[in-house]
Amino acid sequence: MHIYPWQADSAQRLLSLRAQLPHAILLHGRAGLGKYQLAQVFAKWLLCEQRGAGAAAAACGTCPSCHWFELGSHPDVHILQPGAMDDADDAGSERKKSEWISVEQVRHAIDFLQLSSHRNGLRIVLLNPAEAMNAAAANALLKTLEEPPANSLLLLVSHQPSRLLPTILSRCHQLRINLPDTAQALDWLSAQGVSDAQLCLGLAAGSPLLATTFADEEYQVRRRAFVTDLLDAAQTPVLAMAERYAKLPVADYSQLLQWLQQWMHDMQSMKLAGKVYYHQDFSEQLRNLAMRVKLSPLLKLQQRLQQARAVVAHPLNVQMVLEDILLEYTSAF
Ligand SMILES: [Zn+2]
Repeated sequence: MHIYPWQADSAQRLLSLRAQLPHAILLHGRAGLGKYQLAQVFAKWLLCEQRGAGAAAAACGTCPSCHWFELGSHPDVHILQPGAMDDADDAGSERKKSEWISVEQVRHAIDFLQLSSHRNGLRIVLLNPAEAMNAAAANALLKTLEEPPANSLLLLVSHQPSRLLPTILSRCHQLRINLPDTAQALDWLSAQGVSDAQLCLGLAAGSPLLATTFADEEYQVRRRAFVTDLLDAAQTPVLAMAERYAKLPVADYSQLLQWLQQWMHDMQSMKLAGKVYYHQDFSEQLRNLAMRVKLSPLLKLQQRLQQARAVVAHPLNVQMVLEDILLEYTSAF
């Protein structure tokens, strides 16, 4: 377990909190920056029984506490996350696991914080991601934040802090994890063996860990095939295309909408600023398309896509939605 190169400053700021440890710390920033891993490294360091001090502070990795932590069975650590994220043994079970953190889970975590610790006096709850709490769960947590038990630490991770209750935010010590600069991100991706580092980083809007997921060749083949369908805009076979893509599972449909959104974003950016963010492998084609399209239908279409993505988990009629969107797309040229 290690910190990523772009987290060095954030890690130092966390370590400096040790002297007067807050009861709640929120690590927030874009997805794909390794915030949860940083939270784990910090928790492990806090609990380590022989931790180093100073600039190169690190957990020892050999004491009983570090050993338990690495096994995922530290008696003073409780992980609070949606059921769907658990590496449970019943992974093969048919039961659909929740995307949410329930009030029961939060109560369980609060009970845990109120017990006395096994080792050095501190109990830690790792909450990831905090925006997965439903309203009842968030309210239950708020009570604990208002009157935190002694020797307890809540380490919250959030990709979308704007979705958290203001009253929760105001009771956390907040630490923002920033995007690395491009050169650092590209260096790191190359060291991971990602060959199209620049393209993948663009698709991930600058988040290096997210970028590694785009390095998958099969993913790139599917993305290029979809974009190629969009290229000959005037002749895009809308009905056939909608029919074909409507047969995909919901996750893939959500992916299509995201690709479409990124495609339109790049077209707009090409039109206004002469550059693309996501589709660096299609910039010439985007330049040609951008010259043929007006801005207002482009903006309208982006709004339409945003609406479609908001209800992506419960699409009423995928084929009809796709037809509408693609017709609007072709008629924009
Ligand atoms: Zn240790």
